[in-house]
Amino acid sequence: MIEIVEDMKCVEKVVRIKVPYKMASRAFHHQDSVIKVGNHYIGNGSLTAIAGPCCIESREQLFAIAAAVKSAGAQILRGGAFKPRTSPYSFQGMGEEGLKLLREAGDKYGMPVCTELMSTEDFDLVDTYTDIIQIGARNMQNYSLLKKVGRTQKPVLLKRGMSATIEEFLMSAEYIMASGNPNVILCERGIRTFESYTRNTLDLAVVCAIKELSHLPIIIDPSHATGRWKMIEPISKAAVAVGCDGLMIEVHHEPDKAFSDGPQSLKPEKFARLMTNIQRVHSACEETLITESVAKIHAAI
Ligand code: PEP
Ligand code: MN
Repeated sequence: MIEIVEDMKCVEKVVRIKVPYKMASRAFHHQDSVIKVGNHYIGNGSLTAIAGPCCIESREQLFAIAAAVKSAGAQILRGGAFKPRTSPYSFQGMGEEGLKLLREAGDKYGMPVCTELMSTEDFDLVDTYTDIIQIGARNMQNYSLLKKVGRTQKPVLLKRGMSATIEEFLMSAEYIMASGNPNVILCERGIRTFESYTRNTLDLAVVCAIKELSHLPIIIDPSHATGRWKMIEPISKAAVAVGCDGLMIEVHHEPDKAFSDGPQSLKPEKFARLMTNIQRVHSACEETLITESVAKIHAAI
């Protein structure tokens, strides 16, 4: 069969794709995918910072945090309105009221917004207000939800399930792409291991694996990966050094009063310091790449 196709005049080359995720695979698409969100590009070699509270709690809270992350240089505002909480008695999010506030804050500060969609029933509602649809770790293998977001062209931020292998992660991206939406941004947020000091165990090797296996951009969420605000800056620097396309970071102006994830939320001043320092790491890595390329050219001539 391959020979027949290869012999056809219009065929230059036949590439056999051995992996089960064809559309997400680099074998199928060599160039890095760059995802456009508003006027911002994710995966073009620059660093993307998605920042904001874990959940939207009130207008005052969201606008204070949005102003702070914007002035620190974040390009995208995050905030949950539908929250996947372990306990049904915990705060479940503000729902549509929260989505409206998120849209308003994003428009006021000139930032596209990102929020989680937990159920196919809420698709139209969430789609009306958001620029990026987040699929949370708990829903990474919710196939009807993946197919639903695959039937739009809106960028989807797909978080790795807490016990998903890299292949399962890419298969979930494949579900979205095979349904018609190529605009997938992968997000590693730590996986569950025997370790309990940190909230999850951050698999940073996933960045190298994804860069080899796929053309999709990958961002790191050190907040859910560690659960501890003190670790956010050092882990973010490591993630940037290893080559991620961006970071998703939880920020709260009053972490002690946060309705969820206060212990892993950075105060605005700490977030601003992180933004400066990750840029330094990013520039240093770019310089190393340039030096290496120049050295290779010199070696070749
Ligand atoms: C979140 O980003 O708000 C969140 C709930 O993350 P995860 O799905 O990774 O737990
Ligand atoms: Mn959170």
